[in-house]
Amino acid sequence: MLEQIRTIDKSRLLRSIGSLDRAPMRRVDAAIAVSLGLRGTAGVMTLCGRCARTFRNDGGYEVTRVDPGQRSGESCAYCGSRPGFDYFVEKGAGTP
Ligand SMILES: [Zn+2]
Repeated sequence: MLEQIRTIDKSRLLRSIGSLDRAPMRRVDAAIAVSLGLRGTAGVMTLCGRCARTFRNDGGYEVTRVDPGQRSGESCAYCGSRPGFDYFVEKGAGTP
């Protein structure tokens, strides 16, 4: 429930109940960034390099990698034909 983030003292934590793998943790980080206003109204999309360039150059979107260290990704959500990485996709300045 990333829309209800709150901080508590570590001493109140009784035990660890688990951890997340790298891929879902990237999505958590992205959701936190959006929730805290660090990323405007960005969406997170898995894009291949070609589709990321199309969004950036032709669509006027700001497209930045969620995790530059991401080594493997899922299929591109736009073309569906090439593997991609997770990107923040935001309307660029001056884009209606
Ligand atoms: Zn693509």
